[in-house]
Formats: sequence, structure tokens, C-alpha cells
Amino acid sequence: MKLPYAENHKIKMVESIKRSTRTEREKWIKEANFNLFNLRSDQVYIDLLTDSGTGAMSNKQWSEMMLGDESYAGASSYYKMKNAIKEILEFEYFLPTHQGRAAENVLFSVLVKEGDLVPGNSHFDTTKGHIEFRKARAIDCTIDEAFDTTIEHPFKGNVDLNKLEEVYKNNPIEKIPMVIVTVTCNSSGGQPVSMQNLKEVYQLSKKYGIKVIFDSARFAENAYFIKVREKGYENKSIKEIVKEMFSYADAMTMSSKKDAIVNMGGFIGLRDKELFRKASMFNIMFEGYITYGGMSGRDMNALAQGLYEGTEFDFLDSRIKQVEFLGDRLKSFGIPVLVPTGGHAIFVDAKKFFNNIPKEQYIAQTLAIELYIESGVRAVEIGTLMADRDPVTRENRYPELELLRMAIPRRVYTNNHMDYVAVALANVYERRNKISTGFKIIKEAQILRHFTVELERV
Ligand SMILES: *Cc1c(COP(=O)(O)O)cnc(C)c1O
Repeated sequence: MKLPYAENHKIKMVESIKRSTRTEREKWIKEANFNLFNLRSDQVYIDLLTDSGTGAMSNKQWSEMMLGDESYAGASSYYKMKNAIKEILEFEYFLPTHQGRAAENVLFSVLVKEGDLVPGNSHFDTTKGHIEFRKARAIDCTIDEAFDTTIEHPFKGNVDLNKLEEVYKNNPIEKIPMVIVTVTCNSSGGQPVSMQNLKEVYQLSKKYGIKVIFDSARFAENAYFIKVREKGYENKSIKEIVKEMFSYADAMTMSSKKDAIVNMGGFIGLRDKELFRKASMFNIMFEGYITYGGMSGRDMNALAQGLYEGTEFDFLDSRIKQVEFLGDRLKSFGIPVLVPTGGHAIFVDAKKFFNNIPKEQYIAQTLAIELYIESGVRAVEIGTLMADRDPVTRENRYPELELLRMAIPRRVYTNNHMDYVAVALANVYERRNKISTGFKIIKEAQILRHFTVELERV
């Protein structure tokens, strides 16, 4: 018999999690104004809100914490991080930041001006937020297949080169400071971008003299998918694939809370000394001196170690197979999940799940609330709430996909937990036809409203 996959780690320390009753959960979610971000973590049994900063560090990372150098300038921890970035990603220059959006803030302070256009595959919410905050526009050039949850395309994160070239051709080039390629593409379902596509985006952009920036939070998962799905890469190591990927980028922003398996941290990787100089000024203003940028020495050490561990095939294989395990369980119940299953999360197609809730009543959010009440599992809406209003017309934007995302923290839960989640969602699915109304907004912020929005039942 073929041996099944199993985790490439064993457990040394555990943390208790609390179950609750349905009555308690009904009360808590109402007190939270039906926003799952407002729940206290002890009101949650299994937390799939995000895989960001929620991973379990290894014994080696914890050892590195003890070796952290907290010197203000020139700490050895800075050099450890610099070496890891040089060795794995091959960027000559780097700036530490406290997390991914801080890297965006610093880099975009140099690159993005009012009236600019920033094309890419689907931009992540904070990335789009930082673009729109500067009165520039993010343009989604993802391939059409990405918007159909039932098509089994291996690289649904790919940029549509025709759409991208249209943007390049039809606008003054000085208005396009960069193209951003998100690897893997979070907003379209944790879907990877192929090496071929990365290369073509780079070549096309060079032709027009436009910078290519990778939003790199899950670059290692992207490399894993290239290895297992793209012809010609099956015998290459993850580290070799990562090097080739980044050879097609001029700079990168990174949320290290994902594939570097730390609880907090981020950075910018750069090749151009002049751009590094300009960004350094904003780093000092917003984050901290350029050799710590909002991070403790011990955190930089753990991050450096995390970059090595996060790019090991065995780690990625067991992680991504756990995500697939949950996806397969859900499919066996007939639940409409986005296929193929992506890197860090399972996405449920909420419009297919509920077919009688109007889109104005936040379909995916309704599903997140129902799942929580059913089971104490916390997932997150990736739909109309997250899409915000149009910055000009202030109308709600209705994205093509209304998704419920269940993100799996790295090295944290077992497959028994995944099974619990699957059965919980199956129970909601069984009573889906009895649910025909959703929610309405009673309070919201101007930008990134989903974090603080308050809702009420229709
Ligand atoms: C998480 C994430 C960010 C933002 O990073 P934070 O560390 O949460 O600030 C940006 N882009 C992508 C693709 C992400 O997944």
C-alpha cells in the first residue's frame, strides 16, 4: 500500500481550547454586532479566521528567540535576517517592517502618487487599501478562469497578459509605477501563479519599463504548487524554484506572518540602491531605524529561521495536504468549495451554498455567522463587506465571488479538528434552504470596513 502523508513534526507543547454551547454563541455573536473580528478568542473553539501570525513556531525558532540581539543599530539579528533573504530570495537590499502592510506603506510612499494605476492579479485588501488611500487605482487583471469556482485550472492566480497589456497601452506609462503580482493570490482563493506567467509578466513589463513587485506572503506555497503542477519543475527543489520566481521581480513586500512562520514581522526586498535609499527614509519615519524596522532582534532571528523551514518541501507538503484533506471532506458532503483547493485555506462559494439570500444582505458573512453559531468555528468573509465601497461613487462593490474563507494556521491543528469543521459546515449545508435572509450594515469605516463593521439581522 502507498503510505499516507503525515505531518513532518511532532508536538512538544499544547494549548487548551474551549468548547461552548450554541446558546452562548448566539449571545456572543450578537454582542459582537455579528462581526467575527469582535469575538474574543476564548469564545472561539477552532479559529480559522486567518493563517496570518497564527502558526506554531518550531523548537529551532524558539531557540533563536533566545539569541536575539536587541541593539538599536547593526544587531546581529539584522544580519541573520539579511543573510536569509540574500540566500533564499536573492535580494541585495532589504528593510525590516513590523508586518506586511507596513512594507506596503513604506514602499508605496516612494512609488505611488495620486492618479496612478496599479495593475496586478487580485490585490490583497491592505494592498488595495494602501493604493486607494493615495488616491490611486488598483486594476484587477486576473485571468477569467479565476472567477469561476468550478474550473480546475492549475494556476488560477495567473495574470491575464492581454488585460495587463491593455492597461499598459491605454494609459500614460508615467501613471503606472508598477505591477503587483501576489503569490499565491490570496483574494482569488490562495491560487498560485505559474512560473511561465511570472516570466511573461516580467518580460512584458520590462518592454514598457514598468517595475514588477511581488506581494510575497505565501511565496513558498506558490513554489510548492509550481513543483507539483508545472511541467519541468518536478525535480527542482523548493529553494531553486523560489530563486527563479524572484528573478522575475524588481522588489517584493512580505508579510512574514505567513510563509516565514512567525507571529509578527515583515520586510521589503529590493535590488535598486536608489529605491532602497528612498524607502529607507520612510522606513525610519514609519517603522524604525533600517536595521530593525519595528521588529525586535529576537523576532528577526525567528523570522530568518522560519524562512529556511518554510521553504522545506516536507513542511509544505504536509501543510498543503492538510488543506486538501479539509477540502476533500467538504466535497464529500456536496459543499461547493473553490477548486482546485489552494495553499492556505479552503474557500466556500457562498452564492452556490445559499441560493436565496440577496447579494445586498452579505451572503458570505451570513455563512460565517451560521458556521460560528453551529460550531464555534471562526472563518472569514471574502466578499462584499471586504470589497468596500467604490472610492468615487461610494456604492457597494459586489465582487464576482462571495467566499467564506477557512484559513488553516501552520502546524497548529490536527486533522481531527479539520473533520470537526467539515461536519459543522455540513450541518449548516443541510439546513441551508431554511436560511433566506442575511444582514445589513449599521456602522462602517471609510476603508477596510470589514474589520470594524457592525451588522444587524435583516
Ligand atoms: C497578509 C497579507 C498582506 C498584509 O500583511 P500583514 O502582515 O497582515 O500586514 C499583504 N498581502 C498579502 C497577499 C497578504 O496575504
